[in-house]
Amino acid sequence: MKITIAIDGFSSCGKSALAKALAKELGYGYVDSGAMYRAVTLYFLNTGVDLENPESVHEAMEHLEIHFENAGSGNRTFLNGEDVENEIRQMRVSEMVSPVAAISEVRRAMVKQQQKIGKKKAIVMDGRDIGTVVFPDAELKIFLTADPKIRAQRRYDELQAKGQMIEFEEVEKNLRERDHIDSTRADSPLRQAEDARVLDNSYLTPQAQLDIALEWALEAIRLKTKSPRDFAS
Ligand code: C5P
Repeated sequence: MKITIAIDGFSSCGKSALAKALAKELGYGYVDSGAMYRAVTLYFLNTGVDLENPESVHEAMEHLEIHFENAGSGNRTFLNGEDVENEIRQMRVSEMVSPVAAISEVRRAMVKQQQKIGKKKAIVMDGRDIGTVVFPDAELKIFLTADPKIRAQRRYDELQAKGQMIEFEEVEKNLRERDHIDSTRADSPLRQAEDARVLDNSYLTPQAQLDIALEWALEAIRLKTKSPRDFAS
């Protein structure tokens, strides 16, 4: 029995790591929806799109194509046929992505593509509006949280490991700003779906967090298997 799993939460809560591990355990597909907004942002930056100008945004949206390819090292993001997986993780993209993701035309296009990818179920998708907007009927919704200082430290360590020299304060500021924009924007703000299960991973090891999520997933799969609605269809 295949289900849809939505993982939402603030920036740098470890959503992607959990989603990836969960998908691997279940043999499901995995989609990092944030990577799509990051790829749009990269295109806007490279082509000098004016965010305040709807025509400029519209024109750009007509000319970009995003897809994922599974390489040995995991999912990689492609923008107009080019592998941009590393570039979209850079700070210049992180600094612009939330204002770009607040634009309704951008969201409409991304949500449409995400829903298409997830149509066959058996998918774990992480983001900000997956359980509320993209898959409101997802059988399992997880809202991931963690202490802001711990999140900033994790992101800082990650960037350092990649050789990106950056001040801790700058990382912390970026997370704060993104969280603020993401949760206060008019279109699809980040919020916990009413039927989401909350998981605070501040003091959990990745394995402990995965064990909890996996238990929830198996429970949701069992529940769906028993659902009379499915016997009828
Ligand atoms: O997940 P990640 O931090 O890479 O996402 C980058 C940004 O993309 C977020 O800060 C948010 O502004 C936007 N985003 C979104 N909706 C999603 C996923 C990401 O608005 N479903």
